[in-house]
Formats: sequence, C-alpha cells, structure tokens
Amino acid sequence: MIDFRLDPAFEEKLEWVRTFVREKIDPLDALIDEHVAPWNPRDKKAMAVVRPLQAEVRAQGLWGLHLPPELGGPGFGQVELCHLNEILGRTNWGPTIFGCQAPDSGNSEILARFGTEEHKKRFLEPLLANEIVSCFSMTEVEGGSDPTQFRCSAVLEGDEWVINGEKWFSSNAAQAEFFIAMVVTEPDAPRYERLSAIIVPHDTPGISFVSQPGMAGEPYPIGSHSHVRYDNVRVPRENLLGERGGGFKVAQARLGGGRIHHAMRVIGMCRKAIDMMGERAHSRITQGETLARKQLVQVDIGQCWIEVEQFKLLVMRTAWMFDNHMEKEALPWIAACKVACAQISHNVIFKAMHMLGSLGVSNQTPLARMWSSLLAMGMADGPTEIHQMFAGRAVLKNYRAAPGRFPTDYIPDLRARAEQIFGVKAEDFHHGIAG
Ligand SMILES: Cc1cc2nc3c(=O)[nH]c(=O)nc-3n(C[C@H](O)[C@H](O)[C@H](O)COP(=O)(O)OP(=O)(O)OC[C@H]3O[C@@H](n4cnc5c(N)ncnc54)[C@H](O)[C@@H]3O)c2cc1C
Repeated sequence: MIDFRLDPAFEEKLEWVRTFVREKIDPLDALIDEHVAPWNPRDKKAMAVVRPLQAEVRAQGLWGLHLPPELGGPGFGQVELCHLNEILGRTNWGPTIFGCQAPDSGNSEILARFGTEEHKKRFLEPLLANEIVSCFSMTEVEGGSDPTQFRCSAVLEGDEWVINGEKWFSSNAAQAEFFIAMVVTEPDAPRYERLSAIIVPHDTPGISFVSQPGMAGEPYPIGSHSHVRYDNVRVPRENLLGERGGGFKVAQARLGGGRIHHAMRVIGMCRKAIDMMGERAHSRITQGETLARKQLVQVDIGQCWIEVEQFKLLVMRTAWMFDNHMEKEALPWIAACKVACAQISHNVIFKAMHMLGSLGVSNQTPLARMWSSLLAMGMADGPTEIHQMFAGRAVLKNYRAAPGRFPTDYIPDLRARAEQIFGVKAEDFHHGIAG
C-alpha cells in the first residue's frame, strides 16, 4: 500500500526549510543575478554570502540533502526528498545552499559507486563539500546525446588514456575541477558497449574551449555550457570509471535519481508561479472586477493547479518505488516524470507570465528565469521524444497481438461468450426505450 504520511520530526524539518528558504534564499535570489553561475566556488564575492548559509544548513544536518549517511548526508528517502526538493525548487540558489546541485549531485553518485579510493579522496570529498565543482562531458556536436554516434575517443597507450575529440554543452566545464568524459574506447563493440567513462582533471594539457554557449536570454558570448576540445589529452589508466565499455551503465547510474530530483524541484517552481497568479488575480481590477472573478482566469488557475497536483502524485509514486527497491521497474516512471516536467512547467509558467501582463514577460519577476530554465527541460538529459518512446516501449511490453481475427474487445465476440457464460441470449434484453 502506498502511504505518504510523514513523520512529525520530518514535518519540523520541512518547516525549518520553508522558513529558511523564505527568509534567506529568496533574498539571495534577488541579490545575486541569475546569470551569475551559482555553482562557481571561485566567485569570492558570491561565496562570502553563500558559505554562511551553507553553514546554517550543515548545522541542521541537512547538507548534501540527497546523500546517504555514509557520504555525509542525512539519508532521506526519495518521498521525503520530494517534499524537500519541492521547497528548494521555488528558488534558484536552493540546491547549491543545500549541497545537492546538478550536475555535481549526479557526478558524486558516479564517483561513490565507481571511483577508486584515490578518486574518492581527490575528487569526491571536495565535491561533496562544494569546495570544487564538476562537469559531465557527453553530448557531441554531430551525435547529440546518442551514445551510438559518439566520435570523441580514448586509446590506451601504455599506462595512459589518450583522448581526442570534442564535446559540447558540457555544463560548468569552465569552473569544473574535473570532467567525467564519455568517450569511445571500444569502437567495434555492440552499440551500447562502445563507451567508457573517464575522469579528466581540468588542468590536463590538451583541453581547450571552442566556445561557451549560454541559454536563451543569457548574455552572449559567455555561457556555462562549454564546447570542449580534447587534443591528445593524457590521463592515467586508473581514471577509468567502471569497466571498459561500461560507460553507458555509468551514465545511467547518474541520471535516474537526478531526473526525479529535478522533477521534484519543478513542482516547487510551478507552485511559486501559481502563487504569483493567485495574488495577481486578486490584485488586478479590470472592467469593474478583479481578474479572480473572470471565469477564464479561474479556468486557467484551476487547470494549472490540477496539472501540478497530478504531476506531484506521479513524482511521489516514482519516488515511492525507489524507496521500495523497485529502481528497475521505476525506469518508465522516471521517463514519465521527465516528460511531464517539461510539459507541465511550460503550461503553468506560460499562463503565469500571461496573467501578470507586461510585468510577467519582463525581467522584473522570477518568471523570466523560470521560463528560460524550462526551455531546456525537454532537452537536457535527452529530448522529450526519447523518453516518450522509452515509456511507450515499456507499456507495449505488457501486450501481445490479438489471438484471433478481431480485437479482444470486439463486442460481437464478447457477447457470444457472455451468452455462453449466462446461458441466455443478449437479444432478450433489447426491449427498446419503453422497456
Ligand atoms: C541546459 C542544458 C544543459 C546541458 N548539460 C549537459 C551536460 O552537462 N553534459 C552533456 O553532455 N550534455 C548536456 N546537455 C546536452 C543535452 O543532453 C542534449 O542537448 C540533449 O541530449 C539533446 O541532444 P541534441 O541537442 O544534440 O539534440 P538532438 O539529439 O539533435 O535532438 C533534437 C530534436 O530531435 C528530435 N529527436 C532526437 N532524437 C529523436 C528520436 N530518437 N526520435 C524522435 N525524435 C528525436 C527531438 O525533437 C529533439 O528535441 C545540456 C543541454 C542543455 C539544454
């Protein structure tokens, strides 16, 4: 039985997080422009404000929110994380202040699972402490994120991997201390066994940046999704994560949890947009009455609320599967969360912007940041269509072709069978309207 009741001690934690977000993180969002990468620990001015807030979170035992106790986190279950991430999702800085920001959260999962003791000491520990940040370098210009098309390769020469090729949309590469590069090491292997994951420290000779693409709305040309060139980049053979040709498994390990955590935060973002719509609807008077009294406005707000509540149930259901050791069964559900994330946030944020009028489409409210972030939602970690297909295939596995000429639900056949079961003729029940 699915039971979403919460423990009272956890309710208290939630209340602390709500208050902290309202009193400290909302103001931080207003203080530091959204284009300043929240993930850059080398930004001393920003860090002077950020570090004390992170210390408050640590003092509450909430640092590394998504991590198990053995990695220094509080060890929350996924359903609990759903409630927590929803609160953080109302903000831009929340995840960084609680030590659970992407892509570091996923990369730390990889290092914890596949790294050697040396990797853990050198990369994982400072990453978990947010002393450094990291980058996941997979997507290519020609091959997108289809691992069967990748060209960037690594060849083992003696005790070193020699990496050559390009990657782009490698988020945060410019600030990262190390990259996890997904490269072709087994060119002749079957499609999903060609890739390996290799750690590349940022200062290894041969790494250069071709360009720094930013997201729509960010100032050109300095963005945070680097186009990276690897030119005879040499790293020790021990930097291989997992097995040779096991890169696909490594990448998958990182994406499951990350996708639902992101979905959880999107619930919070949408709720904030609905809050803004509600306030606006009661404040704005036009043609003699508030917007709240207009039926079309009521329909919009009602529909947004319905979609967000449905979405939350989907995410909670998926989180519950994780908590109940059904990670494999949860895969199509994760895909569903990823798809719904992009679709619902698109609907809700668009409606909210529209309802706030010119202010809504300006840069004077958080809606503009939300809008620019949702543009990437159906793309980062794979386009919506890929996840829809994955979910569709999972659903199709439950079905077989009809056993006969007609579908199983062909009424004449069903009726003939019913007549056999009940020993009566269906036509005896056809009395017309008068009975
Ligand atoms: C904000 C942001 C951050 C990112 N961060 C990273 C990162 O840190 N590291 C990294 O490696 N990558 C990152 N990416 C890249 C991201 O993973 C890719 O953009 C994404 O996987 C899609 O690849 P693509 O851009 O080449 O699009 P394409 O693969 O060319 O897809 C374009 C469109 O083609 C259609 N399409 C594609 N495949 C299919 C299919 N099989 N069936 C039907 N239609 C299809 C879809 O409509 C899709 O939207 C990031 C992207 C964004 C936007």
